[in-house]
Amino acid sequence: MEEFFPEILDAEFTAHMEGDLDHVEDGKEDWVDVIGEFYKSFEKRLEVAEEEMKEIEIKDEPSDEICEKCGSQMVYKMGRFGKFLACSGFPECRNTKPIVKATGVTCPKCKSGQVVERRSKKGRMFYGCDKYPECDFVSWDKPVPKACPDCGGMMVEKRVRGQTEWHCTACTHQEEAAELEEAFD
Ligand SMILES: [Zn+2]
Ligand SMILES: [Zn+2]
Ligand SMILES: [Zn+2]
Repeated sequence: MEEFFPEILDAEFTAHMEGDLDHVEDGKEDWVDVIGEFYKSFEKRLEVAEEEMKEIEIKDEPSDEICEKCGSQMVYKMGRFGKFLACSGFPECRNTKPIVKATGVTCPKCKSGQVVERRSKKGRMFYGCDKYPECDFVSWDKPVPKACPDCGGMMVEKRVRGQTEWHCTACTHQEEAAELEEAFD
């Protein structure tokens, strides 16, 4: 709204009013009529602006994901907590899903799924198994794609006094975070 509104208001109102006010001063036009006329034309412009805005909203960025419900292409949409995937078959198909970001870590619980970045309903980032709901593995800490050198367990990233450390989730092993080739993007 803000994009279209001030421009119309400032430019048109000023130009229109200045011209018409001269007439009002001359006594040719009634002030109320002038205002009424302005709002009529303004309403029309507002409708045009709304139409234009609708068109902008429709232009969604396509994704490589295919809707598992209807087979249409999924598109990226902006939501309250950032981008998500929605079916391009909307409104016939209302399928949506979060954009899943892989961490490159195999799920430590089921050992077959991949750990992916997810967002809670409140917008908080967490990590879970992509086999969910069959596997309910979750972690608030970001898993590291490197196994614990002591026990082979999963390590997670922790911020300790401004430093990034890796802590094993299965034993007490801790180490300073190192650069990883397969770093997350
Ligand atoms: Zn669909
Ligand atoms: Zn799992
Ligand atoms: Zn360990």
